[in-house]
Amino acid sequence: MSQAYYMVPVQGVTDHPDRVGGLPNHLPPAFPVCRGCGEQMAFLFQLYCTPERLCLDGVLCLHCYQCPHVDEGCTTLPEIVAVPCGAPLNCHKVGVRQSNVVPHGIQWALEMDPDRWPDKESDRRALSPHVYTSKVGGVYPPLLAHKDPGAVIIAQIGEYPYEFNFADRDLHIYLGSDGKIKAYLF
Ligand SMILES: [Zn+2]
Repeated sequence: MSQAYYMVPVQGVTDHPDRVGGLPNHLPPAFPVCRGCGEQMAFLFQLYCTPERLCLDGVLCLHCYQCPHVDEGCTTLPEIVAVPCGAPLNCHKVGVRQSNVVPHGIQWALEMDPDRWPDKESDRRALSPHVYTSKVGGVYPPLLAHKDPGAVIIAQIGEYPYEFNFADRDLHIYLGSDGKIKAYLF
């Protein structure tokens, strides 16, 4: 069995370190820029590293950003920024808010996923539908095998209940074989 931390959203909570909406607590090395329109991307959510749940060497937290014009047809793919340990606090509240995102605090529920994704369809049907919901850690379908066989999926985030616009898909955050943390929609 593998440890999976399932996201438990708490609507309207804005002072929890792990949260959706608003502006980031710490400053990223640089705010990412949309490849489609060239504008600074808007903040979607932040997840802080802990030794148990999200252990990334030298990383304080992960930020997720997306084009502020996604609802008008600009680039959907979010960008993940690994914010290094020692990053300054965002004292002056800089950044861009993603206007349609519903702010939530995130709590965590530890559960056990199977050790590996079942190869057989019959075994996959026996999995709890829960394994497809938002979480950090645990087991994932080998969706990236064609793209990057060495990729390790870190987290899976759904649109609901945050009103993210992932074009009806889910977000996977993964560690690529080049050592970079990236986003993939599936
Ligand atoms: Zn854009």
